[in-house]
Amino acid sequence: MNQALARKWRPKTFAELVGQEHVVQALTNSLGTQRLHHAYLFTGTRGVGKTTLARILAKAFNCEQGVSATPCGTCSACTGIDAGRFVDLLEVDAASNTQVDKMRELLENALYAPTAGRYKIYVIDEVHQLSGHSFNAMLKTLEEPPEHVKFVLATTDPQKVPVTVLSRCLQFNLRQIPAEQIRARLAEILQSESVAFEPAAIAVLARAARGSLRDALSLLDQAIAHGGGQVDEASVSAMLGLAGHEHLYNVLQSLAAGDGKAMLAQADAMAAHGIAFEQALQELASLWHRIAVAQIVPAALSADDADQPMVQDLAGRFSPEEVQLCYQITNQGRADIVLAPDEYAGFTMTLLRMLAFAPEGATRAAIPAAMAASGAGGERRTAPAAPAAAAPTPQAKGAKAVDSPSKADAASARIADWAGLLGALRLSGMARQLAHNCELVGESGDVLELRVAAAHKHLLEKGPQERLRAAIEEHLGRSIRLKIEVGDPVGHTPAQLDEQERRSRLESATQALNADPFVRELVDGFGAQVVPDSIKPQR
Ligand SMILES: [Zn+2]
Repeated sequence: MNQALARKWRPKTFAELVGQEHVVQALTNSLGTQRLHHAYLFTGTRGVGKTTLARILAKAFNCEQGVSATPCGTCSACTGIDAGRFVDLLEVDAASNTQVDKMRELLENALYAPTAGRYKIYVIDEVHQLSGHSFNAMLKTLEEPPEHVKFVLATTDPQKVPVTVLSRCLQFNLRQIPAEQIRARLAEILQSESVAFEPAAIAVLARAARGSLRDALSLLDQAIAHGGGQVDEASVSAMLGLAGHEHLYNVLQSLAAGDGKAMLAQADAMAAHGIAFEQALQELASLWHRIAVAQIVPAALSADDADQPMVQDLAGRFSPEEVQLCYQITNQGRADIVLAPDEYAGFTMTLLRMLAFAPEGATRAAIPAAMAASGAGGERRTAPAAPAAAAPTPQAKGAKAVDSPSKADAASARIADWAGLLGALRLSGMARQLAHNCELVGESGDVLELRVAAAHKHLLEKGPQERLRAAIEEHLGRSIRLKIEVGDPVGHTPAQLDEQERRSRLESATQALNADPFVRELVDGFGAQVVPDSIKPQR
């Protein structure tokens, strides 16, 4: 499986396109009745299928079997477009400077009839980034389009597209793909690829992809490599730096029981596991959302979601009003965490706030004893913090320790410890994967030179690079630029160091197990065998 999954499984027909049924329906209808427009605009966030849709549309226009919503996929036009070598399909990425130079020349050629196809098709991605004179050149063609020209424009930022262009386009808004549809697609692909997976693992990946199927597939590539050819939840959660459902489940169980001490103990355990608290709050918000769905429309929960029993259990422990309030508190906690003394304090304050407040008239299963005694239990519990729920003095835990040296020191200092720096950044998803698979090559002026192995170069997307740059910049308190080259790492990337550590933990776990007297007895006395894959080291 050398080919990146995102490329291999790129949809080739309207029917294969996931999550954009409303757009596909409208396009199919207009193609079916031969009502063709000369300019289309697809808007939507990155990775939702805009350029994929543009290519399918190009086939629909140029298929040798005739214009239709179901291009044959086998004629020379269809196969040429699929392979990215069809002379009458001109693709321009307006965000790339090198390509913009040729825009005017390309548009001048619009007057000439197509060479091989029925239509000459201009696909312009990130069209809002076209420079002034490129826009004017395009507008001229758009105003009086030759019969044989079609424009398919795509943008993540339609507000920046001039009205003169918008008004000449048939506009379609592609939506972010719901996690459930992404999950189902990942399951399909893994089955076709004969890769073993845990359902919970792909549910986690689907949520981490935030509506982008392309990101989901890139993360899946990473997960397969990380999991040594299979996709299990523990290694996916570790790869993404996620809290995993167990920790959060314990936190909410303790909350339902009104047990502040247990909640803090759980937060300590999470700190010991090196879990990023900002991201944990995001997962917590997502969990509250699923609990709310379970309460109001239980049928909407996916039966394939391995977390479902846990979500349903929690749905029975909180009132719908409490869930709404806690969701608000969690989101507020995410906004506040940058202001908190450290991430641990920000996270635990959010937990304690959920414990201290309840919707008007609500009574939680068990009100903290100290609070009930203070008489603030029944009505809106806004009592001064009682001992059981007292906020701890901010302690230096996990994230804080990595956070030093302070920003002022960091601004002048050169970066010595790349892995240490990453530990202090709040990165998630693709940006985190990119960072962890890079090694620091050097630093000159404001340029940070990184190297990523060719095997991971699909992580070099604009979005993740920009998120990584912004996070480093914010941490260092000075502006930087990233220069990432593709090549074999000389030293070790943080991802490789993690992998080494995981292996050595596994090795010592295996040794310890083999040395265990009881295991020895089973092996020697009963001819038992230790199944190597079943050994999982304690973190
Ligand atoms: Zn065809």
